[in-house]
Amino acid sequence: MSKAVISGNITLKSSGEVDAMRAAGRLCGQALDAVSKAIRPGISTFELDAIAEAVIRDAGGLPTFKGYFGFPATLCTSLNEEIVHGIPSKKRVLRLGDVIKIDCGATLDGWIGDAAFTAQVGGATGKPKKLMDATAAALEAGIKAMQPGGFLGDVCHAVEVVGKGQKYGIVTRYCGHGVGRRLHEEPSVPNVGVPGTGVPLVTGLVIAIEPMFTLGRADTVELKDGWTVKTRDGSLAAHFEHTVAMTDDGPSILTLP
Ligand code: MG
Ligand code: MG
Repeated sequence: MSKAVISGNITLKSSGEVDAMRAAGRLCGQALDAVSKAIRPGISTFELDAIAEAVIRDAGGLPTFKGYFGFPATLCTSLNEEIVHGIPSKKRVLRLGDVIKIDCGATLDGWIGDAAFTAQVGGATGKPKKLMDATAAALEAGIKAMQPGGFLGDVCHAVEVVGKGQKYGIVTRYCGHGVGRRLHEEPSVPNVGVPGTGVPLVTGLVIAIEPMFTLGRADTVELKDGWTVKTRDGSLAAHFEHTVAMTDDGPSILTLP
């Protein structure tokens, strides 16, 4: 097991470890894929959670989030003005037009994949579609910014530029992170940053990039359930995430199905 560090507590992964993380990431991607296909009016977030958990356990994996600081489920399911960390419930039944964020972690052989997507129930249209497209484009831009010789600030800045270009709120209270045997490792990966600054993007660095944009302001509040995070102004939010490894040739997404 590699213990190479580039600064502080950042643990770089060997190519073999990245392969193992890709297996965990693929499982996470497959769980999200199954959930994506099940999204429809009338289904509860509890049912979506059960679908993801079955995919992960059937492949010999473990739902990373379940029990993490006491979180009770496999998925975080966050509706409309909720941004992240929503708790699946039989009482949360999807309606046509709802915008749902699905975040999933899968652990396989001790390694973790972490990814998320946003969808509008019944198909994306109008302002929600524009917001979701921009948030997904920000994730793509962040991934593309992972180039040899670059710095983490390049990634954060690339995400920020897309959000600012559309005048969306860019959530900074929550951010991306290193991933490995632990769900949240160093370094933090904010959704804003300065190019050419921060941790060097060296081979073996594995990070979760996760832009969160809103139609209004970026301020957040946590609900009384101790988990769910929503926009303070009640505006719509979107969230996309991939776990990505830095390789000699640039970025490699680990959480594709
Ligand atoms: Mg996540
Ligand atoms: Mg994450």
